[in-house]
Amino acid sequence: MYAKVPGDLKEPLLRELRQLRLRSAFKHFPAVVLIFSAIPALFVFIKGHAILEMFRDEIPSTMSDGTLIAVVLGLIVTVTAVVIAYFLRLEYRDCDCQECLYCAKCDAVDKYDSGCCPVCQTPLTEKASFYFTTYKDEQKIIERWGLQPTREA
Ligand SMILES: [Zn+2]
Repeated sequence: MYAKVPGDLKEPLLRELRQLRLRSAFKHFPAVVLIFSAIPALFVFIKGHAILEMFRDEIPSTMSDGTLIAVVLGLIVTVTAVVIAYFLRLEYRDCDCQECLYCAKCDAVDKYDSGCCPVCQTPLTEKASFYFTTYKDEQKIIERWGLQPTREA
């Protein structure tokens, strides 16, 4: 949904929405890392010894296969954690208002930036700040701030 955000609400509302995203990111982070590490880890478990044979000459003979697989698994989890942290950071930074053309008469947002009201087709020039979300918990917060979904068509 799109919600029209008045200028004075922008800062406190965005602060609350960002905190929510940060909290849920921290909550889900370990589980997501585990799930995404599981696939390459499984591969290493099944194919590990065959891969080790290929690199046999480059591997110091003092290192046991067990140690080596542990190192590889550690690397997989670390790389996965970094990649997921990057995407969560993108999602966090994405939590912002966007300027869209707005038809006050219809209370409608021109979400495709077509230049016309999606309801009455009047050419629009007036812009307003909108927050777009599909998350149910964010919609609840927005409604608690007294904001209503803007018409989109
Ligand atoms: Zn209109």
